[in-house]
Amino acid sequence: MRRKIAAANWKMNCTLQEAEDLLKALNEKNFNLKDNQQVIIAVPFPYLLTAKQILGDKPSFYVAAQNCYNKVCGAYTGEVSVAMLTSCGVTHVILGHSERREYFNETNKTVGQKVELVIENGITPIFCCGEELSIRESDAHNRFVDSQIREGLFHLSPDAMSKVIIAYEPIWAIGTGKTATADQAQEMHAHIRNIIRGKYGNEIADNLTILYGGSVKGSNAVELFSEPDVDGGLVGGASLKADEFEIIINSLR
Ligand code: PEP
Repeated sequence: MRRKIAAANWKMNCTLQEAEDLLKALNEKNFNLKDNQQVIIAVPFPYLLTAKQILGDKPSFYVAAQNCYNKVCGAYTGEVSVAMLTSCGVTHVILGHSERREYFNETNKTVGQKVELVIENGITPIFCCGEELSIRESDAHNRFVDSQIREGLFHLSPDAMSKVIIAYEPIWAIGTGKTATADQAQEMHAHIRNIIRGKYGNEIADNLTILYGGSVKGSNAVELFSEPDVDGGLVGGASLKADEFEIIINSLR
C-alpha cells in the first residue's frame, strides 16, 4: 500500500530546549491518521534520542536523521554511521538533500552508496532529488531528475527499491516561499513514478511514496497533496511551528 507521509526537516534549527518544546507540542496533539498515513520528524543528530523519548509511543510517528555517512565505521571524525542511527532507534534518514549536495559536495554516487547502506541496515531512506531554477528555465528538469534517479537508485535490487521514499524538491522552491504549482508537482511526480516503473515494474512504482518539498505550508498542503502522484510533503520551515505542521499533517489525503 502506498504510504502518505508528512515529513519534517528541521535542518540546523532549534536549541535542545526549543526542540523539546516543539516535540512535546506535537506529542500533545491528537491526529486521526489512517493506516497508510505516517509522520516523520527529522531532527538534528543531538536530539535524536530526545525525539525518540518524547515521540516514541506516538502511533504512526517516526524519528529520522537528516544524513549519515557512506562508510560503516572507523576514522571519520565528525561523521555519523548507520549503525549509530539504528542503535538510537532511528527508522528513517533523509539522504541527498539539495543543501547537502550543494554545501557538502554530495554526488549521486555518494548518495546512492548511502541509500544502499541504510537499507541493508533496516533504515528507510528519503532520497531527495530536484533541479535548480536555471535547469527548469531551460526546460531540462525532467532529464536532470531522471539522471539523479538513475545514478542514485538504479543500482538497487527491486526489494531494496521497494523500501525507498523519494522526495522531489525543486531547489528554487526550497526556503524561498515560492512553491511549485500543484500541476508542476504532479507532472514531475508522474515522471518520477514512470522512471521507476520502467526499471522496476508496476507494483514497485505504484506503491512508491513520492513526497513534494519546497515551501509547503498549511495554506497550500491540501492542494498539493490532492494530486494523484503527490503522496505528502517534506517540510522545512513550516515544520518548526507545531500548529502549522499540524495543519499539514491533517492535509494528508
Ligand atoms: C526542505 O528543507 O526540504 C524544504 C522543503 O524546506 P522548506 O519547506 O522550508 O522550503
